[in-house]
Amino acid sequence: MRRYSAFAIAREAARYHTGWGRAWRNPTPKKSYDIVIIGAGGHGLATAYYLGKNHGLKNVAVVEKGWLGGGNTGRNTTIIRSNYLQDESAAIYEKARSLYESLSQDLNYNVMFSPRGVLMLAQTEHEIRGYKRTEHANRLQGVETRFIGPKEVKRLVPIIEISGPRYPVLGALWQPRGGTARHDAVAWGYARACSDMGIDIIQQCEVTAIRQKNGAVSGIETTKGEISCNKLGLVVAGNSGVLAEMAGFRLPIESVALQALVSEPIKPAINVVVMANTVHGYISQSDKGELVIGGGADGFNNYTQRGSFHHIEETVRALIETFPIISRLKMLRQWGGIVDMTGDRSPIIGRTPLENCFIDCGWGTGGFKAIPGSGWSMAATMARGEPDEFAAAFGMERFIEGRFIDESVAAGVAH
Ligand SMILES: Cc1cc2nc3c(=O)[nH]c(=O)nc-3n(C[C@H](O)[C@H](O)[C@H](O)COP(=O)(O)OP(=O)(O)OC[C@H]3O[C@@H](n4cnc5c(N)ncnc54)[C@H](O)[C@@H]3O)c2cc1C
Repeated sequence: MRRYSAFAIAREAARYHTGWGRAWRNPTPKKSYDIVIIGAGGHGLATAYYLGKNHGLKNVAVVEKGWLGGGNTGRNTTIIRSNYLQDESAAIYEKARSLYESLSQDLNYNVMFSPRGVLMLAQTEHEIRGYKRTEHANRLQGVETRFIGPKEVKRLVPIIEISGPRYPVLGALWQPRGGTARHDAVAWGYARACSDMGIDIIQQCEVTAIRQKNGAVSGIETTKGEISCNKLGLVVAGNSGVLAEMAGFRLPIESVALQALVSEPIKPAINVVVMANTVHGYISQSDKGELVIGGGADGFNNYTQRGSFHHIEETVRALIETFPIISRLKMLRQWGGIVDMTGDRSPIIGRTPLENCFIDCGWGTGGFKAIPGSGWSMAATMARGEPDEFAAAFGMERFIEGRFIDESVAAGVAH
């Protein structure tokens, strides 16, 4: 495959862009693979990529029922941060964040990583205490964060109203190297690099059953026929419960709709990411100028990919209180994705009760930021057959042992 470069752009410009090839192949599935990954979201594609790159395993297929990146990966508000409280979480999210720093170069694909900084507003005394605690934990973990006062918040975000009537801004947890990336580009970049290594990405191919022999996985049945494999990875976010049922086990996961919306485009108004967890609103500005706004998750389980209407009203109301100048903006689009929530708001990575069947799920409302780290760890776990250093704490057995990794403060809020 041709490398993308400034020289390639100049060459193509000179010949009216007639020489660009397809970014990835569209292969017919083979009868058998060493490894099959179900789900071509960011986590599935990243797993396949690091299987090839880090472990030399390239007889791999990624099977996707829709189009690649069409699940939560293409529906999220793209916030990237690693300011989690527990050591295990900070380790994998910081691994992911640090991989994002050089992902464009690694994939030879511009994922538009923008470390513009993330602010998590403290709007109650309780939040101040919580974020100061996280700041101290982050310092010990080697994650760069700082608790800042309201004046510094105002300096970073001139359009913010810090003395709002209900919830004045009392400070914020600031992660200067957090930010955003272009979500589609992350999926496309991994897909292109996978395809280039010979890994097959099979779209429009729904898995309908998981075949097993003597307690171990032997293959899958799909809408494009049967495929045998030695190892299987379930990486399907909100559909994890459905796939687990096919594999014969239950997961401590609930699937709910989480939604987001964007405004009409405006001139640059805000150049950091702001998360207001108390009032439940998240905002950043896209390169096109739209304000990207994240809201809350539905309070009931569903698979609708839409989300309840009252959340939009609540989110917009919360944001207008914090950013009064956006009150006259029109909202352009709204959408939802089905997120996979665990009880402790931490992911599940590792083995399953079905031998040679592995799972990576439970990223809930905040897994976009984790894509490179999760793929890295899931690939190592599948290649070795046992959890790597990042996955070790995230096995599903922790729910039987009562060994929770409680991130309800850092991750129970959306994004
Ligand atoms: C509105 C919203 C906002 C969010 N905001 C953020 C944010 O700001 N920051 C952040 O870090 N995270 C955010 N998230 C969470 C993040 O999007 C997800 O955690 C992450 O994208 C999950 O990626 P994934 O690859 O696991 O899942 P997905 O991208 O959903 O991929 C799973 C794939 O599996 C496929 N699949 C399912 N069943 C089958 C089957 N039977 N056969 C074949 N394929 C199947 C699906 O079609 C899908 O493409 C947000 C999510 C939503 C919905």
